[in-house]
Amino acid sequence: MQAKLQQILEESKAQLQAAASVQEAEDVRVKVLGKKGALTEILKSMGKLAPEERKELGQAANQVRAEIEELLAETFAKLKSAAQEAKFREEKIDVTEPGKTVKLGAKHPVTVTIEEMSKVFKSMGFTLTEGPEVETVFNNFDALNAGPNHPARDWTDTFYISDDVLLRTQTSPVQVRVLQSQEPPIRVFAPGRTFRCDTADATHSPMFHQVEGLVVDEGITMADLKGVLDSFAKQMFGSETKTKFRPHHFPFTEPSAEMDVSCFKCGGRGCRVCKGSGWIEILGCGMVHPNVLKVGGIDTEKYTGFAFGVGVERVAMLKYGIDDIRLMYENDMRFIEQFK
Ligand SMILES: [Zn+2]
Repeated sequence: MQAKLQQILEESKAQLQAAASVQEAEDVRVKVLGKKGALTEILKSMGKLAPEERKELGQAANQVRAEIEELLAETFAKLKSAAQEAKFREEKIDVTEPGKTVKLGAKHPVTVTIEEMSKVFKSMGFTLTEGPEVETVFNNFDALNAGPNHPARDWTDTFYISDDVLLRTQTSPVQVRVLQSQEPPIRVFAPGRTFRCDTADATHSPMFHQVEGLVVDEGITMADLKGVLDSFAKQMFGSETKTKFRPHHFPFTEPSAEMDVSCFKCGGRGCRVCKGSGWIEILGCGMVHPNVLKVGGIDTEKYTGFAFGVGVERVAMLKYGIDDIRLMYENDMRFIEQFK
């Protein structure tokens, strides 16, 4: 019996030392001290023994039990703290680690310029409007008083999708859409993409942006046109900016003009940007041709209006000193990030 007890003790010691988890230690406990455990069986069987023998063996068995219980308690404590440490290691957060940097993008110079222009026109009471980039030939040419033989209609100048549909060559068809759907007083501006069959070079791109403007009301004159566009120039390029209107020709306006602004680089003395002239051409404009108003069903006896179109890339290139329009479409972050 004594030998059996000693064997149980030695086995339990070895098994507990080898136990790698709380569960394994618990298995040892059940095997030895559980209801049908090895030591429990011995204690149960002691009733059959003679009193002296029982006393001696009982003491030995209780001592073994106490030793095993102590070992169990130690092993449980050790394994539990090891398990907790492992959990802590797994969940460890390095509070000294720097946070993830979020790389901020930058607005494209075309977007920045359109937003600046929009702010100016909105401040003057203009409403933002838009039209489709795929337009009808009617809206892009016929309704805008371009004759059937107008050179811009040529397929070498214009991207045709079919005989009647094209990629708009200007934002002016938005004028037609507005005139057909709104009653005067009209005061709208329309930024957007336009397309022409140009080979890309430093100053040309087959896709570029314009901001169109249209005002129709009673008693609108060339003086209103000049007042609005002069104010626009001063807000865009600085309060010292002077403007000059040169006669020009567009099918959809009569009279037509191009507006120059005094060079904002040299103040008009002459430099590389203005090619020494002191002036920079910025937009085309004019009084809306009665034929265009008539397409929209506007009473030309009662109403007059003016319209203008600004080239966005041109303004952006002048403002930011960009000397090649192609840089705008190469998606080179080193270029775009300069306009943050
Ligand atoms: Zn200049």
